[in-house]
Amino acid sequence: MKCGSCRSVCPVFAELERESSVARGKLALIEEIAEGKLEVEKRSEDIISLCLGCSACVENCSNGVRAVEIIMAAREALVNAKGMSLPQRTVLSRFLNTTRLMPALLKTGSLLQGLFLKRIPGESGLHLRFPLPYLDKKRFIPPLAEKFFLEQYGGKEIKTDRERERVGYFVGCVTNYLFPSIGEATLNLLKERSTSIIALDEQGCCGLPAYGAGDMQTFRELALRNIKSIEKSGLNEIIVSCSSCAFAFKKLYPKIFRDDERVNKISSKIVEISQYLNAPPAATSYVQPATSDQLPATKKVKVTYHDPCHLNRELGIKNEPREILKTIPGIEFVEMSNPSRCCGSGGSFNLSHYDLSLKILDKKMESIRDTGAEIVVTNCSGCMLQLKDGAHQKGMKVEVLHLAEAIKAFS
Ligand code: SF4
Ligand code: SF4
Repeated sequence: MKCGSCRSVCPVFAELERESSVARGKLALIEEIAEGKLEVEKRSEDIISLCLGCSACVENCSNGVRAVEIIMAAREALVNAKGMSLPQRTVLSRFLNTTRLMPALLKTGSLLQGLFLKRIPGESGLHLRFPLPYLDKKRFIPPLAEKFFLEQYGGKEIKTDRERERVGYFVGCVTNYLFPSIGEATLNLLKERSTSIIALDEQGCCGLPAYGAGDMQTFRELALRNIKSIEKSGLNEIIVSCSSCAFAFKKLYPKIFRDDERVNKISSKIVEISQYLNAPPAATSYVQPATSDQLPATKKVKVTYHDPCHLNRELGIKNEPREILKTIPGIEFVEMSNPSRCCGSGGSFNLSHYDLSLKILDKKMESIRDTGAEIVVTNCSGCMLQLKDGAHQKGMKVEVLHLAEAIKAFS
């Protein structure tokens, strides 16, 4: 239809104001290439890379155009036709797509990170000492955990006297290697409900970085490994604390393996953490209500919430995290303006287009600042990395927490 409505919502177009950066422009370019009217050249590859996959255009398109799927299919076609750059190929198919090499290299990195990274004074983050491809020197980098989550909890069954069915936990790479505190906070919440919890130890990357880069071969391999691991566990419910992993399991796996009943079955077992916490019978019992004499005399802490695109637009989970935050004693929930606007992370978008990603992030940080919130909560590890970088770049004293961490902090 080429109506141009997507121009009003695209965060990339808002910054670049070029037709080629909005869905309509990219789709027109892809159409011309598909019909053989245009040759693929570096500029067309750059244009196709200028998408966060945030789906704001899809949500706003009254003609039902699935722009993100078309853009991702174009990326796949480009990779099939021209291959990937060496750094991309190394990271995706040689690094992410390994069960032993990635943890081993990251373990070595955890021990040696002081040689390459230096502490940011007064903050919990790091900066690069030397330039590295795809990583800007001014970027805020969280340190690799001394002990990865799965090293401590992987494959160990935790038994409780609770009543809900036993569950598995898919932790995801960022939580495993960078933020094990999210995994521990999630385990604590699961222990409050389920009769037994087991963090799957044979889990790997969900595959989303490969999907975003158009490397569908690696994506399929990673997905199949996770599907096999869940099948082997025999569990009926697998809890996922990262929105992007949940999106991969629930939307991408069934789409890519569309004729495979087995994949649909596994996908239906995946439950995102805020949905799990809101489900009966324990809808409001995640926090022990404080009695009036336990409540601090000081005023409540202002907390706001950022909607991850994959959780809100792709999985339709918007109210559940808010409902939880609003019932926690000690929290004054404040809504930011445009909470579902993308933070600019976009999978690997903030690696390949860091300066543009920071401009998109600026608007998000302004919305957060305007609320006066001391804490911003979100449910996606990619968004958390981005928001932490934003707080650092802007010198804001706002804490970025996962929902599970926020619940723990106020319990
Ligand atoms: S993608 Fe949808 S909103 Fe954008 S120009 Fe096409 S029809 Fe209009
Ligand atoms: S998915 Fe987001 S970034 Fe990509 S074209 Fe649509 S609105 Fe723009």
